[in-house]
Amino acid sequence: MTVDLGFVQKCESWLLESRFFPSKVGGKPAWLDLKNIPGEKDLQCDYCKEPCIFLCQIYAPYEDSEDAFHRTIFVFICKKAECSKLNENGNFKVFRSQLPRTNEFFPSEPPIEQNDWRPDISVDRWIKTCYVCGILAPNHCSKCKSVNYCCRAHQIYDWKHGHKETCGVNQSVAKTMYSEFLLPEYEIVMEKDNTEDKSDANELTAEEEEIKKYETMVQKGEAGTFQNQDVEKELLSMANQQEDQVFSKFLSIVDKFPDQVLRYDRGGNILFISPGSKIDEIPKCSECNGDRQFEFQIMPQLLNFLNFDIGLECVDWGILAVFTCKKSCILKKKYSMEFIWKQDIVEDNSVDTS
Ligand SMILES: [Zn+2]
Ligand SMILES: [Zn+2]
Ligand SMILES: [Zn+2]
Ligand SMILES: [Zn+2]
Repeated sequence: MTVDLGFVQKCESWLLESRFFPSKVGGKPAWLDLKNIPGEKDLQCDYCKEPCIFLCQIYAPYEDSEDAFHRTIFVFICKKAECSKLNENGNFKVFRSQLPRTNEFFPSEPPIEQNDWRPDISVDRWIKTCYVCGILAPNHCSKCKSVNYCCRAHQIYDWKHGHKETCGVNQSVAKTMYSEFLLPEYEIVMEKDNTEDKSDANELTAEEEEIKKYETMVQKGEAGTFQNQDVEKELLSMANQQEDQVFSKFLSIVDKFPDQVLRYDRGGNILFISPGSKIDEIPKCSECNGDRQFEFQIMPQLLNFLNFDIGLECVDWGILAVFTCKKSCILKKKYSMEFIWKQDIVEDNSVDTS
């Protein structure tokens, strides 16, 4: 068993459109089902009630299931710092969407990776999306009627950031203005981690060795692999606590590929970042009431690639673990909400770790 690791990479933006089934970070979502997409109510942050913005999506078909020939998991985040609460997940939303090979949106043959290949395969052909954030847009500007929005907040944002000047004018002028509202866009490239030894037999010894190794690195000043200085400081002070084996193990595993932003291990195990705040219960699938299983985790390294100018400076996480329906059941709701669990680096002192 190997874990697939995800790394971010800049690429041409057309390659990240729906027609090429991308895994990606930032920008607008590249929807899979192009018609029944989530709207404001589905994406509402539990705390501030504004729609969450797109964080990332992973294209992850179930090879042996005709119903999930195409399958993508979408993750959204509220960009407000005050909605980022320790070990709480209310500022995140996760959706699963899937399609059989034969469907109304995409041809059954694989896409040809060329810019001019089938540009007509697009969500715009089926439904109106928010000009600001890309989700379902039932509203439009009442003056020009040519720009659509998911909610009042995004309409106001757009008015203040350009539409006031361009309303009723040539819309093609205003097309490329919204990069600051959304997160910067990257492709997620997956690679196998063949170095990892998952055998449990000698885990304790290996773990002890890892801690020793890491402590030596700290002494020599070689331990810093994180770009974010605050994260690094936090990490170092944590590592100095000898009893924190979970965290040392996390670091030594991550250190093999320090830039990994994602670990994909469907049916596998979470790589915990802290011994505190374990998951008590994973809610059942909201569609079939069956069990959910771990599918992937988003790593804190992704924070290093996000744009802190858009007000994300205090948004934080240790790891984000995504759990999805084990069967990847057929969806009545074309985007079904799945479960995300957040664990922060900061230790919860109320947990007895003895
Ligand atoms: Zn919020
Ligand atoms: Zn919007
Ligand atoms: Zn207008
Ligand atoms: Zn299910």
